[in-house]
Amino acid sequence: MSEENAAWAERSDEVLIGTYARYPATMVKGEGCTLTDADGQKYLDCLAGIAVCSLGHCHPAVTDAICEQAKKLVHVSNLYYTMPQTELGELLTGNSFADKIFLANSGAEANEAAIKLARICAGPERYGIISLAGSFHGRTLATVAATGQPKFHEGFEPMPEGFSHAPLGNLDVLEAMITDQTCAIMCEPLQGESGVRPLELEYLKGVKALCKKHDLLLIFDEIQTGIGRTGTFFAYEQLGVVPDIMTVAKALGNGLPIGAMLTRKELAASFVPGTHGSTFGGNPVAAAGAVATLKIILEEGFLAEVQEKGEYLQAGLDKLVGQFPTLATSARGLGLIRGLVLSEKGVAQGADMVKKMFDKGVLINFAGNVVLRFLPPLIISREEIDRLLLVLEEVLTECTD
Ligand SMILES: *Cc1c(COP(=O)(O)O)cnc(C)c1O
Repeated sequence: MSEENAAWAERSDEVLIGTYARYPATMVKGEGCTLTDADGQKYLDCLAGIAVCSLGHCHPAVTDAICEQAKKLVHVSNLYYTMPQTELGELLTGNSFADKIFLANSGAEANEAAIKLARICAGPERYGIISLAGSFHGRTLATVAATGQPKFHEGFEPMPEGFSHAPLGNLDVLEAMITDQTCAIMCEPLQGESGVRPLELEYLKGVKALCKKHDLLLIFDEIQTGIGRTGTFFAYEQLGVVPDIMTVAKALGNGLPIGAMLTRKELAASFVPGTHGSTFGGNPVAAAGAVATLKIILEEGFLAEVQEKGEYLQAGLDKLVGQFPTLATSARGLGLIRGLVLSEKGVAQGADMVKKMFDKGVLINFAGNVVLRFLPPLIISREEIDRLLLVLEEVLTECTD
């Protein structure tokens, strides 16, 4: 680590609680798919702030929208209307199954809203939410309880009541877990954090059918998959399974903290003045940034490009699987969320591979202790994808010996 980076890392570690295992770089600038650190080192960002900066860093249209709004009005209470919130609501409902939205500041907050809505809609005796093993729904107490990975619960027990986790892929077990108290089933159409795991189409259809049969609400957490990441505006569109409630966040504001819960108007009617709220939710600057972001993602041809580049990346990864069979077993994903599934030998070196990529100036991560995960900005060029694949090939070669 060279001088400026090292000095800032030391100062940071003095004052910031160590909740993150950070790489030794202090990022100071971002443009397109490139990040620059305090020593002037450049990185090809194939993580995009974990599926956040889909239009690349500091996209001019988003930055302009932020600056213009910041000159006019930065914050006002939700006791009043603002134009950016309304425009954002129109864009989200006009391009999804939903009629209404609630605005929050993060993914976990959007999921909290979804959980509260499901419970209030179902009435006092029905509070149970079944989610899936391997899921990730956030870090607040309710959303961590919904998260189907025990490692996130450790040390924080007792968990809030009413959450249970069904094994992935087994509809019979899922149905057996449904009780008179159950009000909803919650899942990600493709599990991001636990290893870029798409749910089987037949399974998702079965989950929807169980919801119908037992009068349960289906909640899709599209916080990572939504807003174009999978090559359609929302992942559910290509799966043909429509949820009752859906949450989005990460890419919604291209880097601004914002999340949303979307639903149909009959369900939304259970939220009335006083039932739920947020001081900052739908903040005018964040909402204006989100409006600018969505307008670009919804432009003619944008999502088709994401699909094509996703297939291009997949083909490159498939080739590497063929070249390095002892390290990688397959590649999977949708659009531009892709994972290279590592073998047992590969997993043992997963963290090391990510560090080697970092040292060569390419940012990726190791997700769920199973895959190297690629979440580049959706505007990534084919030349940049080639560079990612080339550096990955170098690293895999080094790890083979
Ligand atoms: C990131 C993520 C969350 C949590 O979002 P935060 O903004 O970190 O609270 C929830 N669900 C999924 C699927 C995610 O990927």
